[in-house]
Amino acid sequence: MTAIHRARRPILALAVALVLFAGVQFRNTVIRALDGGLGVSCMSDAKQLVVAAQLYAQDNDGTLPPCSSATEFQAALLTYAKNPRQYNCCATGVPFQANPRLSRLKMSKVQTPELVWLVRETVPHDDQTYAVAFADGNAKRLKALPRHSVE
Ligand SMILES: [Zn+2]
Repeated sequence: MTAIHRARRPILALAVALVLFAGVQFRNTVIRALDGGLGVSCMSDAKQLVVAAQLYAQDNDGTLPPCSSATEFQAALLTYAKNPRQYNCCATGVPFQANPRLSRLKMSKVQTPELVWLVRETVPHDDQTYAVAFADGNAKRLKALPRHSVE
């Protein structure tokens, strides 16, 4: 090995390290972008489930669907939200939870629907946020889960 080859080794090692570092950064950026997209998709699904619950209530004398379990919530809403995939978080695969305090409750009893959650993710995404859809149809990603409260 010549003196020139020996002198280039540290430069080559540095170049390899830089390429590896850039690769890891790129991978992390892609993962973050993908999870961000999934986060939006989950919020859309949660919102659609709230709309389905509102339609259910219209057809059932103002009474919200049963919300005691994910299974009975889905069974009640299948007429209004037909895609079975929208009942699960697209990132974790875990079913959305419906607010058990709203189970079979008259919509008219929910006086501040913008503050009462109706559908939310059970398990957070990688960024530790949950998709939460409120009884008025708005949805947000929140770090802390809202309480079950009904005023
Ligand atoms: Zn999700």
